[in-house]
This record gives sequence, C-alpha cells and structure tokens, in this order.
Amino acid sequence: MSQRKDTSSDVLEIDSTHQVEDKAVDERKRKSSRWMNSNRFRWIFQIVFLIITIYIGWKFYLFVQYCETGGATKYVSRPPGIEAFLPIGAFMGLKYFLGTGKVDPIHPAGFVIFASILITSFLFQRGFCSWICPVGTISEWGWRFGDWIKSKFNRGVKYWVEIFPVKLTCGLSMISTPIVALMLLDVVSFESFKSPNMKAIYPLMIAAIIIPFALPRKVWSARVEDSIARAWKYSIFAFFAVTILIKMPAQQIEIMFTNVPFMKVADVRMLKFFINLSMLAIIIISVIFVFSIFNKNYWCRYFCPYGAVIGILGWASSLRIVRDKEKCIDCGKCTKACPVYIVVEKKKTVHNLECLACYDCVNVCPVNGALDMKIVGIGKKIHYAVYAGLAVGLFVIFMNTARFTGYWYNNITLQEYMYRIADIDNPKYQHKQGKFEVE
Ligand code: SF4
Ligand code: SF4
Repeated sequence: MSQRKDTSSDVLEIDSTHQVEDKAVDERKRKSSRWMNSNRFRWIFQIVFLIITIYIGWKFYLFVQYCETGGATKYVSRPPGIEAFLPIGAFMGLKYFLGTGKVDPIHPAGFVIFASILITSFLFQRGFCSWICPVGTISEWGWRFGDWIKSKFNRGVKYWVEIFPVKLTCGLSMISTPIVALMLLDVVSFESFKSPNMKAIYPLMIAAIIIPFALPRKVWSARVEDSIARAWKYSIFAFFAVTILIKMPAQQIEIMFTNVPFMKVADVRMLKFFINLSMLAIIIISVIFVFSIFNKNYWCRYFCPYGAVIGILGWASSLRIVRDKEKCIDCGKCTKACPVYIVVEKKKTVHNLECLACYDCVNVCPVNGALDMKIVGIGKKIHYAVYAGLAVGLFVIFMNTARFTGYWYNNITLQEYMYRIADIDNPKYQHKQGKFEVE
C-alpha cells in the first residue's frame, strides 16, 4: 500500500515537472517568435547613439578644418557633444561645480554629459554602458563577432585566446595598481621613475607578469585573476578622484579654465591625437581591440574609469535583476548569456558592480516571471522598454534641458577658435605631465 502511495506521488511529481518544462518550452517558443525583444530593442538604441557619435566626430573634424584653413572650407558649427570625449575635463568640471556651484565655462556640455551619466546610473543602474555608450557598442559587437570566430577554434585554442588577455592584464595590474596607490600616498611620483634605483623593482615586475601564467588554478583561481585585472579601472578612477576631486582646489580649476590656453583647445588636441596616432598608440589600441574580440567587454571590464564610477553608483540603484527561485528551472541560460560573467542562475538578486542592465539574461530566460528587472523592496517588474524610457529618456532630457537653459554651448567665439586652431602646434597648447602654460 505504502509502495503504491509513493509511486503515485512520484508520478504526480514527474507530471508536474513535465508541466513546468512544457510551459517553459511554450514560453521559450513564444519569446523566440516575437519579432521584438530586449536585445533587438537595445541594439536600436546602440545604433542610434553610435550614428550620433560618428556624426558629432565628423562635424567636429569639419569645424577644425574650417578654422585651420582660415575659413577656406565650408563652415560647420562646432558640436558641443564632442566634449564627452574629455574624461579628465569632465572630472575637473565636476569638482568645479561641487566647489563653486558654477558650470565649467569651457566644456559645459562635457560636464552636463558626465553629470547625467552619474545621475542616471545612480537611479537606473549601469544602463549607460549597454544602451548608450558607443565604446560599449563597439565592444559588444566585437565580442559577438569573436564568439563566431571562436566557434571555429578547438577547445585548447579557444581557452587560450579567452584567458590570455585576462592573465596578461592581471599581471600588469599587479604592477600598476600598487604604483598608483603609492603615487596617491605621495610615496612615489612620475619623477621617481627616472631614478636608477627603480631598476631594483624590475625583477618584481617580471615576476608579476609570470605569476598568473605559472600558478595552477587550484591556488590561483580565475575569480582572483579577474578581480586583480579589474583593479586597473578602479585604480585609474581612484587616481582621477584623488588628484582632481579631492586634492585639486576649485579655485585652481577656475584659473585653468580662464587662463590656460590648452584647456580651450583640449578637444582639438584630442582630435589631433587620434588623427596622428603614434606607432605606440596604434599598437596599444590594436591590442585592446583584438583582446576585446576574444574577451567580452575587455576595455569596459578592465580599464574604463567611467565604467568604474558608473558601476559604484549603479550598485546603489534600487533596480536589480531578480530571480524567482520557485519558477526557475535551473537551465543556466541566463549565466551563459551574461556578457560580464555573472552566475545569474545562482543569484536571488544580482547585486554586482559589473551588471550592465542589458536584459540579455532576461531575454533568454525560458520561464515567464523567473527572471526580471525589478524595483527592490517593491518587487515591481520593469519591462525593458520602460527601462529604456527611464534611463535613456532621462539622459536625453538632461542634454536638452542644458541646451535650452544655456549650459550647453561655451563662450569661446568662432574668431578665437580660428586663431587658436591655426596656431595649434604652439607649445602653449601642449602640456608636460600635467604642467600647463598660462596666458
Ligand atoms: S546580469 Fe543580466 S542584465 Fe546584468 S549584465 Fe548580466 S545579462 Fe546583463
Ligand atoms: S533564471 Fe536562469 S536558470 Fe532560471 S530558468 Fe531563467 S534562464 Fe534558466
């Protein structure tokens, strides 16, 4: 009798499992048959912002050409959006605003864009990286292409092309991170590296690069390696935060905005840098690009200082990917889809500095309601279109509010740009290790 009871309960259990699986399959079919999903929706935003970025870059190039030729080419107005590519200027603008309550008069759009990124990240997580940032877009398409290439490789080659960039970055981070820490503590400076005594640390540097390749996984896990490699971006962010946000007085920044000629043409110098790339810069950019193809979001994950600060602020956001343990069928698809290697299938709530709010995990989840973006505490589900409306919408609202309230355009006249750009190779428009000429 008891045997029979157990058997029928087993059958019931098996039946209910089948029902859940059938439901899951139905749901998956329903999801895959939809012409629009969060992935495609996000790609539309990425493409639009990438096109806008290319347009801004092209427009700025034409503007500089007009000024260089003394007006011989067709006039194109300077697009203020170009200031988004001046991260150090953005940090200075933030400190200036915090210290004086005033907006950077030279690169106001750069400050507005940076402040908008910080506010939207605090409210709506790290969506800027996966929905707006053109570097994130190129990075994502790069690794998607890399996934296709890797599918042609055998397992051994695939393993090494994926792991080599992380091991190398980890080794280099073990050199750079302590150096940045010692610089921030004023123990060493740029000058210190000219001293012959520094040769004493060369063996340590070589050891740091060899260690990740030499130690076995049992004593040197992939997680440790990845964490050390990621310290790069936090040390770059810490360097900016301490040297600019903490140590640099707002009054000094005001003098720089007013009297340092380099500041007025920092965007033009940046354009010149990219147009006339040195061999070293070409090699570094090429290596980062190739590594980004074989290792997902390589630049964003290990180097981007914006990614570091956005991740920290996004961590405080009340929006989270939440997994319902009762509904989850442990298929592991979410973990496989996550571009930043979060083990989503084991989390109840994804509370991780790296989460990009990309919805890729939600998109692949075959069970309705098992995985969603939610407002923590309230439990309200946020549909991807609503999320885009909130995160991207607020970002766009900030830009346009600044535009219509006079905080978008700087007060440098076209005539001033023309005479400065015509003389751009003058040493007063350069700087030596952060030292500037004043006029
Ligand atoms: S956890 Fe989900 S939303 Fe966050 S990065 Fe991974 S796939 Fe994207
Ligand atoms: S939450 Fe992840 S593991 Fe669970 S059903 Fe969805 S995709 Fe599968």
